[in-house]
Amino acid sequence: MVVEDEKKIASFLRKGLEAQGFVVEHALNGDDGYALATSRPYDVAVLDIMLPGRDGLSILRNLRERKIALPVILLTARSELNERLEGLNLGADDYLTKPFHIEELIARIHAVTRRAGGTGQSILTVADLTMNLLTREVRRAGQRIDLTTREFSLLEHLMRSPGRVLTRVEICERVWEYNFDPGTNLVDVYIQRIRKKVDGDSPAKLIETIRGVGYRIKPQQ
Ligand code: CA
Repeated sequence: MVVEDEKKIASFLRKGLEAQGFVVEHALNGDDGYALATSRPYDVAVLDIMLPGRDGLSILRNLRERKIALPVILLTARSELNERLEGLNLGADDYLTKPFHIEELIARIHAVTRRAGGTGQSILTVADLTMNLLTREVRRAGQRIDLTTREFSLLEHLMRSPGRVLTRVEICERVWEYNFDPGTNLVDVYIQRIRKKVDGDSPAKLIETIRGVGYRIKPQQ
């Protein structure tokens, strides 16, 4: 995830990272950036320091206060020596001084995700179900499964945290970006659809209903 308020730099970052196979989500200000960072697990956060609203250092401080160990790379201006030092003290994993080459950022991202034991993960696996986030290919026991964009997103959210129950409201927020309960059985309908495609006739059901709470994908053995 990237938080950068200068649109030109943001679009340069997104293009450069996507060309290398990264999936990028971007926020234009600090408050949205913090909301994004706490909404789901990312492999790495690239935070500009000077931002409208909450600045990059505040985002970092708030993440660390909440014990969120997301790897963080700060983007700083040449003059921001004190901020850079403060950032490292607050638990930033690395920093980069503007202007920089995209290759430099990519090298730092690989370094911090390796250090964090992360994978820069592009393939999610639960039992014999695999999802490739780059090619968007989903397979169960080697058999290709075709999903629509929403179905893919719903399954991705379940697969990112096996065993964790997602409520209908959480699913609505993440997959449809509603911050309200649409008062329909939208989620249940989509769960049924992906269940049909993913579990089908297989005796090993991966998608579980937790009555009165929500849904989850079977925890890893
Ligand atoms: Ca800025």
